[in-house]
Amino acid sequence: MCVVSVRRAAILVLSAKAVCVADGEGILHSARHDLPVPSVVRLTRYVRVPYRSHVGLSRRAIFARDGWRCAYCRGPAETIDHVFPRSRGGRHAWENVVAACARCNHAKGDKTPAELGWRLHALPAAPKGMAWRVLGHRAPDPRWADWLDLPEAA
Ligand SMILES: [Zn+2]
Repeated sequence: MCVVSVRRAAILVLSAKAVCVADGEGILHSARHDLPVPSVVRLTRYVRVPYRSHVGLSRRAIFARDGWRCAYCRGPAETIDHVFPRSRGGRHAWENVVAACARCNHAKGDKTPAELGWRLHALPAAPKGMAWRVLGHRAPDPRWADWLDLPEAA
């Protein structure tokens, strides 16, 4: 559903608003309670969450969407490229950003793929699905894997 801090998760469990379904590492101590660090909690009451319809455009999320591969040569990606160059009015949006290796990014400069005769491996688009609510937030805890449809390299 979403990612919250350990502190927030612990408060939800202690106030019986949530139950822990997967423990993390360590124990939280307070004056009256010892509580295993929660890794995944389930709310005890159904809550309708007004989800943001747009996934945040972060560096991590772009790399995750593109599988950490260059959109042009499929090599390991280490930079973000604007398909239609920003210098020529290209937007910073899911549809115009791709992961790219430094070599392709440098060679591309302020040209479009069409001008270079390059082809994109896939047409960039905003990602959809459960896992994207946590990607871009932080590195996902491996314990969350059972609850999320995470892409391979994430
Ligand atoms: Zn490349």
